[in-house]
Amino acid sequence: MEVRVSGVRKEFDRFPALHDVSLDINSGELIALLGPSGSGKTTLLRLIAGLETPTDGKVFFGDEDASLKSVQERNVGFVFQHYALFRHMTVIDNVGFGLKVRPGANRPSKEEIRRRSSELLDFVQLSGLEKRYPAQLSGGQRQRVALARAMAIEPRVLLLDEPFGALDAKVRKELRRWLREIHDKTQHTTVFVTHDQDEALELADRVVVMSQGKIEQVGTPDEVYDRPNSPFVYSFIGESSSLDVSIQSGTIHLGDKALDLKSEQADGKGVLYFRPHDVELLGGSEARISGVVIASRRVGATRRVELEIDGTESRVEIEIPADHPAKVGSPLAFLPKHWRVFGKSA
Ligand code: ADP
Ligand code: MG
Repeated sequence: MEVRVSGVRKEFDRFPALHDVSLDINSGELIALLGPSGSGKTTLLRLIAGLETPTDGKVFFGDEDASLKSVQERNVGFVFQHYALFRHMTVIDNVGFGLKVRPGANRPSKEEIRRRSSELLDFVQLSGLEKRYPAQLSGGQRQRVALARAMAIEPRVLLLDEPFGALDAKVRKELRRWLREIHDKTQHTTVFVTHDQDEALELADRVVVMSQGKIEQVGTPDEVYDRPNSPFVYSFIGESSSLDVSIQSGTIHLGDKALDLKSEQADGKGVLYFRPHDVELLGGSEARISGVVIASRRVGATRRVELEIDGTESRVEIEIPADHPAKVGSPLAFLPKHWRVFGKSA
């Protein structure tokens, strides 16, 4: 384990930006902090870097309490959303900056700094641009310089705060793949902040889903997508449909109708969540979720159908094969293949 965040709380003027956050970051892994704006991602990153101090709780680097270490001693590499390159310095001087400002004994020679900087530029595929200034680069190139600069100090942890957030969609996608390749080569322990679920799912070994200053779920991309553990994660990652239900003696009920869905949860009201594409169409209406088609449209390879559920005013969307007729006004019945019920907070 490389970094441990343990029971951290952070308040800004009494406003709690993080509540009781705990997270272990393993050596060599690429972890994504994913959440909407304001969920506390940047604050968590800055706490790891030592740019903020926790109100409560602790950050450890290995076994050591990081509160005893300065930002420099933590040896972290940082890349921000907005290119924080030095405008008056050439590309190669930008990359070597972190080495040049090291205290005496740890500072490599001028030649050594140049050699390492140009190696890194080669690595981020920017050879030949050494003498340019940041203003003479594209946005994507600047972020690659920023990454080379962060890696030059051979950081213990690389912290990337929405590094591609300001770039257009196509460049973002390219850089996403590129970053994954770089990571596979260098195996730097990396914490990557994004509010973009596709970016997190494609890039990360593990995804940390955050909402309102709390960690909602930590898991591999498959785990958070296939087994969301809260209504928030269900709706934030991928698409979800939901219906009000109740649990009665181990069976899920829609109104008075018992569905062919078992639950081990205690009796009471709840909300059934499932993925619109993860359903099975079934004949009959007993023990099924049945309704009337109120909208039906072909979307690429599939068909999207909106149903008004029998005996309720609820509507849900499901995805079915494109060749299904699903005419407006016709009945349709289905059951979700995977689903979860979350209790309704009383
Ligand atoms: P994110 O990066 O997920 O968008 P932040 O960590 O930047 O979220 O912010 C989390 C919450 O803490 C927000 O409500 C934000 O307004 C608040 N916050 C962050 N930094 C400060 C600060 N320096 N002073 C006051 N409030 C802050
Ligand atoms: Mg942020």
